[in-house]
Amino acid sequence: MQKEVSPQSEYVETLNVLVGPEEQLFTVHKDAICHKSPFFAAACSTQWAEHQDGTVRLQFVEPNTFKLYIHWVYTAQLDISIIELPFYEKLETQPQKHPAWEATCLRIHKASLLCKTYVAADVLLDRHLKNEVIDQLLGLSTYPLDAVSEDYVNYIWSNTHVNSGIRRCIADYLAPTTSARDAKVLSREALVDLVARLIELRDYPDLAYLPGFSDRCKYHEHVEGEKRCTP
Ligand SMILES: [Zn+2]
Repeated sequence: MQKEVSPQSEYVETLNVLVGPEEQLFTVHKDAICHKSPFFAAACSTQWAEHQDGTVRLQFVEPNTFKLYIHWVYTAQLDISIIELPFYEKLETQPQKHPAWEATCLRIHKASLLCKTYVAADVLLDRHLKNEVIDQLLGLSTYPLDAVSEDYVNYIWSNTHVNSGIRRCIADYLAPTTSARDAKVLSREALVDLVARLIELRDYPDLAYLPGFSDRCKYHEHVEGEKRCTP
C-alpha cells in the first residue's frame, strides 16, 4: 500500500480545483496531489498546463467526496468520519429512535460515501484509494454489502468500468442473496453481471460465498509483482 506523501513535496505551488456542478473551489498543493493521482499528474503536465489557467474542473465529483480525497492526499487515511452525517439531527427527533436502527442508518450512509469515493478514485486513477475503499466497505459489518442500497448499486454500475473490483464484489454478494423483487430495480448493466455470476454459481455452486474482509484482495487492483494483502 502507498502510505506516504511524496518525500520530494515542497508544498510551494498550488492548484485550484473546481468541484461539482456548483464549482466549489479547493486549493491543494500540486506536488502532494500529483504524487497520489496520475489524473492530476497528467493535468499538471506542461503540455496540458499550456492550455489551462491553473485550474482543474471535476464536475462529476461531489465536494464532500473531494474533501475526503484531500484528507487522503495529506494523511494517507480515508477517514469518512470527517464528513458530517446529514441525518443525525433527524435521528435525534425520531420517536422510534433505536440504537440498532441508528447503526443501520449509519452503515448505509458510510456505504454510500464509500461508493462515491470509489467512483472519484476511479476518475482520479488512484488505485490505492480504490483498494482502501474496498477494505472499509468489507469492514463495515458481518454482512457489509447489505448496506449498499439498490440506488448505489446502480450508481456503481453507471460510473465504473467493466469488471472493476467494486462491481465484482457487489455481484458476488448479490448473486446468492438478492430477491427477485429487489433485482427488478437494478439497472440492466448490473443485472447482466448478476446473471453472469448466477450462471457461474449454477455450474459451480461451491463458488458461492458472501465477500468479507478476508477476501478483500480479490477485489483490489495490484500491479504485477506487487505483494498481495491476503494469502
Ligand atoms: Zn490486495
